[in-house]
Amino acid sequence: GIAFDGERFLPIEKAMVPLEDRAHQFGDGIYEVIRIYQGTFFKLEEHMKRLERSAQAVALTLPYEMSKIMELIEKARLASECKEAALYIQVSRGAARRDHPFPDAPARLTMTVRPVFTEKTTALRRLGQRVMTTEDIRWSWCYIKSLNLLPNVLMKQRALDAGFNDAIFVRDGLVTEGTSSNIAILRDRTLYTHPANQAILHGVTRHVVLELAREIGISVVEKAFTVKELKEADEAFTMSTIAEIVPIRQVDEALIKNGNVDEFELTHLLQERFAAQHSRDLVK
Ligand code: PMP
Repeated sequence: GIAFDGERFLPIEKAMVPLEDRAHQFGDGIYEVIRIYQGTFFKLEEHMKRLERSAQAVALTLPYEMSKIMELIEKARLASECKEAALYIQVSRGAARRDHPFPDAPARLTMTVRPVFTEKTTALRRLGQRVMTTEDIRWSWCYIKSLNLLPNVLMKQRALDAGFNDAIFVRDGLVTEGTSSNIAILRDRTLYTHPANQAILHGVTRHVVLELAREIGISVVEKAFTVKELKEADEAFTMSTIAEIVPIRQVDEALIKNGNVDEFELTHLLQERFAAQHSRDLVK
């Protein structure tokens, strides 16, 4: 993989940021993850728009014009020589003597491009995942793609330690999202998912999936559902840039469709359409 440390391109293992960086001291920054399929970015513009929205939401001025950032991104992709890969962009409020107020320092934009190993996600997409519900202890601005991922990391690990694949956050009795994904259920050929308000990240994959669902005649209702509704759903799945559409086989002790992911007809249809979409984007 290749990295951009704010000044130059170098191997990831050699790239470093100073100890005084605000990302290290405070988690003071934002990020994006963009998938590269067969050497081509998927939904690059949507991700960059979200980066701009996150930056604005935390009063962070990006260190370069968007055209320059696009140039750096393209350079990183070429230098990586990766076909199936992910580009991560982190923007921190820069390095300065540790003090809470915003520093005078310029923001620091760093990037990495690394290969994506698809074996694990491909298997999960086929076999489905087991998820554990957990209280959403995060802050109330989850629409910002902030570097503060401690609750996500803690709950992911707690789920793994309990023998699940992931944790699903629940706030005030309503399902919000996964530790690194959005979530939807299907019931009577209607798709339900949490509305894109401040309580969830407005996933790029979520947006694509909702479009595809409408295209194939599934009604889409952006309304939050309860844990009980999740457990009693006809089908359920998570969606994210890296894992794509992953069926949910089990929620806590409850099996969905007796754990027969093979019978998730609409989820499979969405997976197929999604795969067709990212290969179609390559042709464009
Ligand atoms: N919610 C959270 C908390 C996430 O970390 C992610 C992954 N970036 C998502 C949702 C899915 O967003 P996207 O489809 O843009 O990857």
